[in-house]
Amino acid sequence: MRPPAKEAEATSTEEDLTLVSTLADLLECPVCMEDMSRLRRIKILACSNDHWICAGCAEHSQVSTCPICREDFRQNPPRRCLNTEKIARSFAKARAEQGQISVV
Ligand SMILES: [Zn+2]
Ligand SMILES: [Zn+2]
Repeated sequence: MRPPAKEAEATSTEEDLTLVSTLADLLECPVCMEDMSRLRRIKILACSNDHWICAGCAEHSQVSTCPICREDFRQNPPRRCLNTEKIARSFAKARAEQGQISVV
């Protein structure tokens, strides 16, 4: 009897880490660098190109353009991203349950 191949396991761990680091990256507000999944009340907005930004920054009068694509928020205000908030909440929950996942 041979133990199941370890390769599949390694691959899935690798994919998880990629997903985790991608999510951690996307959930970092590009303005204040805050991890949006750690906010006590998660509220995430996005420009029309889906660049995520925390509500604190989006509602801040000094932030008048998307920091990534420079879309003008006064002409095209960022909209609330309920699904993104859901992702952020489950990401925070998964991280809390599994202990700190280190992101490189
Ligand atoms: Zn922010
Ligand atoms: Zn943008």
